[in-house]
Amino acid sequence: MNEANWTRRLKACKKCPRLVIWRKQIAKIKRRQYVHETYWGKPVPSFGSIDSQLLIVGLAPAAHGANRTGRMFTGDESGKWLYRSLYTYGFSTRKESFHASDEMRLIDTRITAMVHCAPPENKPNAEERAQCQTFLIDELKMMKNLKLILCLGNMAWSAIFISLRKMNLFLGSVPKFGHGNMIEAPSYYILGSYHPSQQNTFTKRLTIEMFNEVFEKARLQLNK
Ligand code: SF4
Repeated sequence: MNEANWTRRLKACKKCPRLVIWRKQIAKIKRRQYVHETYWGKPVPSFGSIDSQLLIVGLAPAAHGANRTGRMFTGDESGKWLYRSLYTYGFSTRKESFHASDEMRLIDTRITAMVHCAPPENKPNAEERAQCQTFLIDELKMMKNLKLILCLGNMAWSAIFISLRKMNLFLGSVPKFGHGNMIEAPSYYILGSYHPSQQNTFTKRLTIEMFNEVFEKARLQLNK
């Protein structure tokens, strides 16, 4: 397995019938403000080098965000939070990501998702999560320099521990998720953060300071 093959397989994937219909339907109907844009409307590939030390795991592409632009966390409010913090701590070359073809680059960082197609109401079902987990496991196997996995939200946290268990890299039950919690697994450190969704940021469950603290922790861990 190499990255080019992995990405080719991912982009052509149609294993989840409900999501195949949904991602195409959204791309056709569009949101009024993006009516003149061509939506990506396919599985969104990971962004950043496979040789990175840091892997960030989100939930799934947003219907009018990454499903529109074709780049993880790009084109929606969650992405604005993520890329601003990445830039602040030296993980990207710019503080904003606009589109898959812009010149912004990640530094020693890769962004993936536990599910690569936009799901209705941002909620992939159990079968879809299980289908896409095969991509996550293969991605983890390819990341030979990986040291730290940052999970955005409880579902990404669970997906990572279940994947590591399937790879025989973690034993036992999934540890309790918490913002800023860090677990040392035999091969990697796993760090949890609330997802920068509007549900969390509007309610101040997640503030900019809290989000930045997680990236500071990641930076310190990688500098050790
Ligand atoms: S969510 Fe994953 S497994 Fe399902 S169709 Fe998309 S890429 Fe394939």
